[in-house]
Amino acid sequence: ADVEALCGPGAGGLTLLGLAASAPSCRHGPALLFVKTSQGAEEGRRFYACSACRDRKDCNFFQWEDEKVSETRLAAREEYNRTHQPSRTHRQNVERYKNFIVLPLAKRRFCQECQQLLLPAEWEKHSDHQLLCDISTAQLQSPSQLLYPLENKKTNAQYLFADRSCQFLLDLIIDLGFSRVLSVGTPRLHEMIQSKASKEEDFRVRSLLLDIDFRYSQFYTEDEFCHYNMFNHHFFAGEAAHETCRRFLHQDNGERVIMVTDPPFGGLVEALASSFKRLMAMWKSTEKEDPVSQEMPMFWIFPYFFESRILEFFPSFTMMDYQVDYDNHALYKHGKTGRRQSPVRIFTNLTPRVIVLPAEEGYRFCSICQRYVSSGNQHCEICNSCTSKDGRQWKHCFLCKKCVKPSWFHCNNCNCCALPTHACEKAAAGCFVCGQAGHKRSTCPSLSRS
Ligand code: SAH
Ligand code: ZN
Ligand code: ZN
Ligand code: ZN
Ligand code: ZN
Repeated sequence: ADVEALCGPGAGGLTLLGLAASAPSCRHGPALLFVKTSQGAEEGRRFYACSACRDRKDCNFFQWEDEKVSETRLAAREEYNRTHQPSRTHRQNVERYKNFIVLPLAKRRFCQECQQLLLPAEWEKHSDHQLLCDISTAQLQSPSQLLYPLENKKTNAQYLFADRSCQFLLDLIIDLGFSRVLSVGTPRLHEMIQSKASKEEDFRVRSLLLDIDFRYSQFYTEDEFCHYNMFNHHFFAGEAAHETCRRFLHQDNGERVIMVTDPPFGGLVEALASSFKRLMAMWKSTEKEDPVSQEMPMFWIFPYFFESRILEFFPSFTMMDYQVDYDNHALYKHGKTGRRQSPVRIFTNLTPRVIVLPAEEGYRFCSICQRYVSSGNQHCEICNSCTSKDGRQWKHCFLCKKCVKPSWFHCNNCNCCALPTHACEKAAAGCFVCGQAGHKRSTCPSLSRS
């Protein structure tokens, strides 16, 4: 529940209004328009802020919507944006990579501090940095292992798939017959595909990675990676990169392509949805023979408590029960002993029944719901669906007329189910069970009677 409170909608006292046509730009592309919803003198005031960084330490761009910005300040801002781009272009990084792979193993070094592959002439400059030596081809094929994950919660939130989950996703994609994957913020899935494609001759799947983490440009060509901001649909390399993406989507008349995305969980669902719609529109602009496939197939990986938000923007989506696991996510990864529950799920516009979940992990098919569900998810006769969201068995509340978490009780004060410890609307007024003053739930006479 703490995770829900931290990144749920409305967190932070701000509401996103969207991507305005006349929005000013920071070095992460067009800024987003927000309105202050927290109470105070500035409540209701609209302003632009960076789309990518919710931590002002990472990008402090800020402008009131009605603010007049002088020509000099505009020029200074443009200059700032230009000079605060990565020091090397993607093209330069591709050239460097070509020079790097022809080096003998003993001369292949990676600077952990600067997070870059070094050419021998540069060793000197990094002499007092931590270096990794003898970088193998296998290491070059798994950059997500070589680079440290950018975990700063508010901006990159780079949480890498556990191998098991990544393998499951790829197997599923292959079983469903897809041959191209648009990997949006899924570097580990991308690298699994790229690495198989380079090793196995009959492996036909291809991937294009779109990610804001420019370090990946050291390992992939411009046809394999685009520096992209998924909160404002901004391609940093401009029209050329846009075209690369369009070309990728349009191959084979746009058939057999799926988009897989695993965005940072920090909210801003509407910004993500609007970018994803633009990627879908890019795909749709193909001449397809099969007119029934109206939407580009998509897996959007996100916590279950965002279900209603996602469905608001993509009504055709369904949430799958599969729990996506991560390597470096302290909260969600598997413990050594039992299984820790991950709140992260797959949302998809594919027919739920074709998403086969692994029986060895306890998932089974519910023939009434026509989808695979987790082992603890019981079909509720009254709701007529498998109602658990978090994998535990939920219980039906007749007063709320729906299933709720097993740890919840129906609160007569709030007139809904909640944790026994919830901050009750009328907490001062009295008992959690009967609502009367003078006693607490544990000593409620209405309970002792039964
Ligand atoms: N589980 C995935 C990684 C998800 S972490 C995997 O293992 O492949 C979120 C990813 O989104 C990171 O790769 C991060 O760099 C990227 N990202 C964060 N903010 C972004 C933005 N504004 N635009 C595009 N990508 C972003
Ligand atoms: Zn069911
Ligand atoms: Zn029910
Ligand atoms: Zn209830
Ligand atoms: Zn209450």
